[in-house]
Amino acid sequence: MGRQVIHIDIVIIGGGIAGLWTLNQLRNRGYSAVLFEREALGSYQTIGSQGMIHGGVKYALAGALSNSSETIAAMPALWRRCLRGEGKVDLRGCKVLSEDFFLWSTAALQSRVASFFASRLLRGRVQKITAAEYPAPLRSERFRGQVYRLADLVLDVPSLVSTLAQRQPGAIFTVDWQRAALRRRGRQAVLELEQCALVPQQLLLTAGAGNASLLASLDSTRPAMQRRPLQQVLVRHQYQADFYGHCMGGNPSPRLTISSHRDYADRPVWYLGGDLSTDAADEDPDQLIERARRELADLLPWVDLGEAQWTTVRLDRAEPRQSSLLRPDSAYVGKLDGVDNARAAWPTKLTLSPDLADEVERQLVAEQILPRHQPDLAPLAGLGRPPIATPYWDTLFS
Ligand SMILES: Cc1cc2nc3c(=O)[nH]c(=O)nc-3n(C[C@H](O)[C@H](O)[C@H](O)COP(=O)(O)OP(=O)(O)OC[C@H]3O[C@@H](n4cnc5c(N)ncnc54)[C@H](O)[C@@H]3O)c2cc1C
Repeated sequence: MGRQVIHIDIVIIGGGIAGLWTLNQLRNRGYSAVLFEREALGSYQTIGSQGMIHGGVKYALAGALSNSSETIAAMPALWRRCLRGEGKVDLRGCKVLSEDFFLWSTAALQSRVASFFASRLLRGRVQKITAAEYPAPLRSERFRGQVYRLADLVLDVPSLVSTLAQRQPGAIFTVDWQRAALRRRGRQAVLELEQCALVPQQLLLTAGAGNASLLASLDSTRPAMQRRPLQQVLVRHQYQADFYGHCMGGNPSPRLTISSHRDYADRPVWYLGGDLSTDAADEDPDQLIERARRELADLLPWVDLGEAQWTTVRLDRAEPRQSSLLRPDSAYVGKLDGVDNARAAWPTKLTLSPDLADEVERQLVAEQILPRHQPDLAPLAGLGRPPIATPYWDTLFS
């Protein structure tokens, strides 16, 4: 006897922020949608991110912000609506780490940064603050730079992932590819499980760097993917004030980005990114840690971290290969070649997940792919439920 066939609106593969956000939005719209995750929800990029929901001011510094960058500029306000339960996706319950993100310049760069931030495009998105408002690590008589507050926020990513997962308890499953396969039947993609075959109106691949092999399993070569590796530094320390900030150096991109987190025992951890980490993907971890120590000593010499432990994590950023497809201010969703019912998507930023889900919806509606099936999911009941990924600051310190 053949496998039971289940017709369903949407099958999503990959439970990072892209898959989880899209699952929530499409189910809220009435689509029958299920998500399959191979490991833990939010593994790799999402759990490794700094949790900043930003409005693109970083791109402005790189000269890439234009009047058309409204998509990313709108993101912090859109996420705030979701956090209040007033958006397309309900994020009530997600923990906000900070309502502020700071940007500081070293003394040498003051005039360049100041004239830049006075520009018309950035009005309302960047605010210069007085010494009384400085975050604790910049409150020193020896500090000579300027400090700006950005209209950005920082989320606790594990709580973001679990909030999105908890909203869809019956729609998220573990997939074991030893017992499952994506196959093409003619030009249609089908997910074959031991229990049944799922025939979706649309298959959506949101597996981050995992999209490459999923495309290959469907004999598709497009949209092609690229990885951009980096290596972040983690320092667990005893300095208690939290800090969320970019330091602008001589480059248009931040010289150093610091976000504060707490490990399972509530010990403070600074997670260090920016040029420090993007330039260092292949650097020996000990050398990178030495460089990070020097950066902190150079930029914040008055901050005493106390006894500190250091480690690094190497991660790949996954995105579409064609640079013409990649605008810094919007997510990417593209059809697979040779398959009629499949798309691959990369948000390219945590921040842009709502834009990714909106773009998926726009493309579905344009092809008249509307909510149609309401299948009985009982045959999937025996599949496991994936856990939430554990943050690197809880696993990497020995
Ligand atoms: C160090 C770092 C810091 C960052 N900081 C920020 C930031 O502060 N703000 C911001 O906006 N963006 C940030 N980003 C970018 C952001 O993290 C990513 O754009 C975003 O998380 C990508 O999400 P995703 O869901 O596409 O992929 P991922 O988060 O990589 O999730 C992919 C999921 O798919 C699963 N998967 C993989 N293969 C398979 C398979 N074959 N079958 C089933 N499941 C599979 C994985 O296990 C994983 O759970 C950062 C990125 C990095 C690397």
